[in-house]
Amino acid sequence: MAKTLDGIRSIENFSLEDKRVFIRVDFNVPMKNGVITDDTRLKAALPTIQFAIEKGAKIVLASHWGRPKGPQDREAMSLEPVAQYLNQALGKEIILVEEPSSEAPKALLAGLKPSQIILLENLRFDEGEEANARDFAQSLAEYTDIYINDAFGASHRAHASIVALPQLIAQRGIGFLMKKEIEMLDKVRFDQESPYVAIMGGAKVSDKIDMIEMLIEKVDSLIIGGAMAYTFLAAQNISIGSSRVEKEKIKFAADLLARVRARGKKILLPEDHVVVTSLTAVESRKVTPTAAIEEGWLGVDIGPKTQATSSAEILRAKTVFWNGPMGVFETKEYSDGSFAIAKAMAENAAATTIVGGGDSAAAANASGYAEQLSHISTGGGASLEYLQGEKLPGIEALREPKRSEMVRPQ
Ligand code: AMP
Repeated sequence: MAKTLDGIRSIENFSLEDKRVFIRVDFNVPMKNGVITDDTRLKAALPTIQFAIEKGAKIVLASHWGRPKGPQDREAMSLEPVAQYLNQALGKEIILVEEPSSEAPKALLAGLKPSQIILLENLRFDEGEEANARDFAQSLAEYTDIYINDAFGASHRAHASIVALPQLIAQRGIGFLMKKEIEMLDKVRFDQESPYVAIMGGAKVSDKIDMIEMLIEKVDSLIIGGAMAYTFLAAQNISIGSSRVEKEKIKFAADLLARVRARGKKILLPEDHVVVTSLTAVESRKVTPTAAIEEGWLGVDIGPKTQATSSAEILRAKTVFWNGPMGVFETKEYSDGSFAIAKAMAENAAATTIVGGGDSAAAANASGYAEQLSHISTGGGASLEYLQGEKLPGIEALREPKRSEMVRPQ
């Protein structure tokens, strides 16, 4: 197990039979009008739940969803669609409990049948959740014998079900998804095998400065695509037409290019682009012959030459990490660049290939190559914070003190 998990127990270390097991999961899935549009996080949570079922636990599942602002959001932000999904996926009756802090879960657990599972309603309906309130956590602890955190995507938040609750429970640990996330992300955080190629894309340089700084210490090559590439091209005085640019970050980009090159590392910027006259003018699209973009045009994806160069670089690597799409991949006509990255990663079967969550995870899933990648993180913000070296509050709350740090009883 990775060092990060020293002093942290796993669900396999507990005897679960007949115990009330509270599993904090990340069911914060994309939903539109009550329909789940991407079930990746739900699927990823199933192995831990199934394990607890097999071991005869009395299971309470808990998650937040979205950012409810008050009682008016209770209907639209209910976990009811998730309850229906789990009913199908697990073949169990899912009892959705409206008030997690009430006596109801405790009473239900007393008579819970093996064919039933409790799902608590959206934890953020209670203000205590985001406030990491001890009294809210205490009400959850009332009916928890064993606490399991399998919500990697929420573990960068010091909220009650992530931090205050496990601190009240002696028997606490992680589930299989959390273990896999940490072990896989540790491969790019600590044990990267060279050549290490990172691909960065997405909307903004400013969101990813810490990530870029971390990566340039470790990678052999950095491929930059997406809208953030235009800021780097502008830093080299290459015209970028009306493409998205962060003027205040041009100097940072120029300094970074100089620093990376001075250290003998490779940085690959787009050599060509897919451009359009406006984001919605799909039919106007064309490929530029060079990295330059004329006035009146804006870049929406990397072009075929860039795809080929990036793919060749990826195919030579032993470790590949990708964060941020190469273009506006949500529009099919602008998705080729992102899909080409996923394809090259999939084709390099000998390498450890990791996608760092968020939009790049959505792009990797949409590409059809997801199954052939080593790992697609279910955490957006959590995976980035973790890779930037932050300690995740949800992990730290589970750690047992080292023997030397334990206070002797008087
Ligand atoms: P991020 O959350 O920073 O990873 O950014 C993801 C967003 O960047 C996606 O919604 C993409 O549509 C957007 N994006 C990627 N490339 C471009 C581009 N060339 N122009 C505008 N937006 C882009």
